[in-house]
Amino acid sequence: MYYNSALLLADAEKLGISLSDDALAKFDLLAHLMIEQNKTMNLTAITDPDGIAVKHFADSISALTAADFELGARVLDVGTGAGFPGLPLLIVRPDLKLTMLDSTAKKLKYVSSAAESLGLSPEILHARAEEAGRKPEYREGFDVVCSRAVAALNVLCEYCLPFVKVGGCFIAMKSAKAGEEIEQAQAAIKLLGGKITDEKSFKLSDGGERNLIVIKKISHIPPKYPRVSAQIAKKPL
Ligand code: SAM
Repeated sequence: MYYNSALLLADAEKLGISLSDDALAKFDLLAHLMIEQNKTMNLTAITDPDGIAVKHFADSISALTAADFELGARVLDVGTGAGFPGLPLLIVRPDLKLTMLDSTAKKLKYVSSAAESLGLSPEILHARAEEAGRKPEYREGFDVVCSRAVAALNVLCEYCLPFVKVGGCFIAMKSAKAGEEIEQAQAAIKLLGGKITDEKSFKLSDGGERNLIVIKKISHIPPKYPRVSAQIAKKPL
């Protein structure tokens, strides 16, 4: 086994998520593919079986506990990198209509081929979030948007909230220090039509703190957002 399935099962049980034998086998294949690819490109620093099980797989699927992922829901993973949280979410919930977005084509090429090997078919979107969020086919088109380890919450909200349907939600997957980030993002959340409706704090078996910040979209995104990359970087909301 390329990951510690007992650790993943233990964390999944704590989260209230049940994993089929088929899902556990797919997680093993994904761990194997990632380790192999990591020999020739810089995908992840976490390659040990315990780390993969907890920091990548259990952490990714924890998003399922933060919102109602209805059957066939349209879900977006912003800044998916090596496929997290998107690929684990799709392994556990193959019914989801998942789009995986990143600005780095090389990583998406790996994600696309890993998904194919796993028998999964997410939509792969090579774009900057702030550009895709202005396109009619993506703007306010998703039930749930997730993002992990991409940017500080105030910036992340400008990347992610434009994609969320009114009534849908954005789940920001954060480690410790979520309180400070939330403070700094209050104005951005309000301006972008969002409202924090839940904050879930928990620990996985590595002992590290995790926070899922759930931001519900309560009104339409004002037309001027998202702004262009340079403005977001120069003057974050
Ligand atoms: N979400 C993955 C994870 O948790 O393992 C990857 C995290 S990695 C640190 C951040 C990723 O976000 C990179 O792959 C980067 O290319 C992508 N990214 C950063 N800013 C972005 C933007 N504005 N639009 C699209 N992708 C972006």
